[in-house]
Amino acid sequence: MAEKCEICGKKFGIFVEKHKLDDGRVVCYECLDKYRKEQGKDLPDVVKNYGVGMQLVLFIAGFLSSFVCIIAGLDMASIQSVAGNTVAEAYYNSVGVFVIGIGLFVGPLLWGIAYSIRKK
Ligand SMILES: [Zn+2]
Repeated sequence: MAEKCEICGKKFGIFVEKHKLDDGRVVCYECLDKYRKEQGKDLPDVVKNYGVGMQLVLFIAGFLSSFVCIIAGLDMASIQSVAGNTVAEAYYNSVGVFVIGIGLFVGPLLWGIAYSIRKK
């Protein structure tokens, strides 16, 4: 099996799926799409919508994880007793900041993956 698209030369990978044309050539999704359109056949809706669906799922997951982590983080960071800081409070406050950090990391990470799917 070829490791590159036989039409545009794009390397196959996680986001560049291999597709076999009727004439035996192994090509990427984009070239398959073009080929099908030239042939007057269109892609089945399931295949066409797959990328968009994944993007949406990742985008929502990214948003929710950031949101939840930031809320939880702010909540933990604001834990304080009337008497002042104890070791436990200091610990929870640090964990709160850490959780906010994870939220800020996970959100953009998932959005990045969603973006790279769109570039396909
Ligand atoms: Zn191609």
